[in-house]
Amino acid sequence: MEQPFKEALPILHQLEKQGHQAYFVGGSVRDYLLKRPIGDIDIATSALPREVQSIFKKTIPVGIEHGTVLVRYHNQSYEVTTFRIDGDYQDFRHPEQVEFVRDIQEDLARRDFTINAIAMDSQGNIIDPFNGMRDMKEKLLRTVLHADDRFQEDPLRMMRAVRFISQLGFHLDDHTKKAMKKHGFLLEKIAVERKAAELEKLLKGTHLQKSFQVIKDTGIHFYLPVFQQDSGLIDKCLEMMTDPVETFYEGIARLHFINTRHSVEEWIREWKLSNKIKNRSKQLARAYQCFKKRKLDNRCLYLLDLDMIPSFVSLINAFATDDSMKETEVKKRYDSLPIYSRKDLKVDGNQIRQWLPDKKPGPWINTVLTHVENKVLTGELKNDVEQIKEWVFRWNRQEGN
Ligand code: ATP
Ligand code: MG
Repeated sequence: MEQPFKEALPILHQLEKQGHQAYFVGGSVRDYLLKRPIGDIDIATSALPREVQSIFKKTIPVGIEHGTVLVRYHNQSYEVTTFRIDGDYQDFRHPEQVEFVRDIQEDLARRDFTINAIAMDSQGNIIDPFNGMRDMKEKLLRTVLHADDRFQEDPLRMMRAVRFISQLGFHLDDHTKKAMKKHGFLLEKIAVERKAAELEKLLKGTHLQKSFQVIKDTGIHFYLPVFQQDSGLIDKCLEMMTDPVETFYEGIARLHFINTRHSVEEWIREWKLSNKIKNRSKQLARAYQCFKKRKLDNRCLYLLDLDMIPSFVSLINAFATDDSMKETEVKKRYDSLPIYSRKDLKVDGNQIRQWLPDKKPGPWINTVLTHVENKVLTGELKNDVEQIKEWVFRWNRQEGN
């Protein structure tokens, strides 16, 4: 067993000691069997939520109505969810009600894809009633039970399908594919925020081009924001979205640049993304535009924050075939910038105003600061009070004041 499972084993053991069943389930078991890096470890148990709460010292009832209790153990968090079957999916939200069951097999049957419906017990034994391991060998993504039913129950699963394809490089099983063609329209019923979370993972996946091909083949892009307004976009994605993005905001900037009919703001609005993503994708888009004009100029790097460099480099390398960049080089250049924000300038607006007491305060102060900022960045001026002062006087004379 891998280290992350070993660390979580005492949780299974404690549940078992109290007479309950407990298994590792979901993405961590899938990724372990596929020899991929393991993310969060989820546990399924026959214990009811209040039983889970009574067994462990530190618990947080994160989704108790769906049977989920977060157990804190050795500074890690584990989602422990009672075996359940889902009630009706009303209005395509999460099921209104869930029913707790006592059998892992029933719990696995409610899961979306066969590769996600495998459990592992504390001895390392695998419980795989839907042949997820066989599908893994064949790199096949297949719904658990009948695809038509499963997508009608929860259409988000179609979006999950294309993100798993991007992450794993799997192909769709025929029935699953047919069902997606048939029920794709139901994606419009799903809250856009939930779809966006899958889009983010899709854009970061290694096989995103394969994923875009499946989106096109199944036609689900007709039911996704922005894509549905622009029929040529999916082909542009196939042509130009070949490498994974570093960050979601890089993805949005890239999607904007492959077809500038939709601004970054429109992407953000249509997909209901956060202000943080909005600000960063705009910032990155500006820096990239600057790069196209001036190459790796200090003024372009200045538009970025340090942690945005990997996204910046990734964006350049995705598009500009003859401008390929190395992250270390760009970081080095960034480290040697003379200033990182206006605050780093040795002078401020007040000082400039005092130097020219006859001029009425106004927008000219900002204009001067912008000039100074640019000149310091290009090396024309040193970030030095005397030099800047001299330049400001010269500027003033030229202005004819
Ligand atoms: P990741 O590695 O991105 O976390 P994951 O497969 O663990 O992928 P989660 O969203 O964490 O995805 O869900 C955990 C498990 O819960 C899944 O593996 C699957 O078994 C089940 N699951 C999640 N979402 C759904 C859904 N919409 N329908 C059915 N089962 C689902
Ligand atoms: Mg998970």
